[in-house]
Amino acid sequence: MLLALLGLFFGVDTSVLTGGDQAPVSQSAPAQPGQDEVYDFADRIMTSSNQVWGGIFQQSGQTYNQPRMFLFSGATNSGCGRATSAVGPFYCPADSTVYLDTSFFDQMDRQLGGGGDFAYSYVIAHEVGHHVQNELGLSEQVQRKQQQVSEAESNSLSVRVELQADCFAGVWGNHVSSLANITEEDVREAVNTAAAIGDDHLQEQARGYVQPDSFTHGSSDQRVRWFMRGFTTGNPNQCDTFKGSYSQL
Ligand SMILES: [Zn+2]
Repeated sequence: MLLALLGLFFGVDTSVLTGGDQAPVSQSAPAQPGQDEVYDFADRIMTSSNQVWGGIFQQSGQTYNQPRMFLFSGATNSGCGRATSAVGPFYCPADSTVYLDTSFFDQMDRQLGGGGDFAYSYVIAHEVGHHVQNELGLSEQVQRKQQQVSEAESNSLSVRVELQADCFAGVWGNHVSSLANITEEDVREAVNTAAAIGDDHLQEQARGYVQPDSFTHGSSDQRVRWFMRGFTTGNPNQCDTFKGSYSQL
């Protein structure tokens, strides 16, 4: 099912992507003082998303290699280079790791007054969405394509990538019973908060090596719409943001 979707995007021979030769990796992160609560929460979301995506991949006869999770504050080294302080959450395809900057969550907490559980979940599920894209071989294909096209076209591909990660986050949400009552308004609040903090972080950020995640890409209407599409259907095949004209995303 997912492979059919992938072929649709780029017309590639998807048989090369079915290898699944990597051994599944377990999540790991050092428990840091004062961050246990964030760690536990993030760990629960990761465990849940491993179950959901493992099941979806299995249904289409594929193996899902679980991402690693790493919490940091200040700065960290990653397989994608050194991340400077306040880079925000990001996903590194080179080491299949979701990097979560705890200061981003602290800021989220302050803005949402402690009611940010769903917003936290959304941010983590969005990063996992990028991992799913990596597992599908999409990240590499998009990057290759971006080197061959104009800057404008390259930017529009980035937006498609971001909106698909949102849709994948929604697919995960569909499979989580405790999120059954999440409304479009809750999604909008989460999307807007992540984008606002993302903006702050981008401004504060010194020139680091890691590409910060583009929470600001795509309008919030688009992001909410694509999240809701994944959320209401639970079907990753509904997340084909590469199809159709850019203006209709
Ligand atoms: Zn993203």
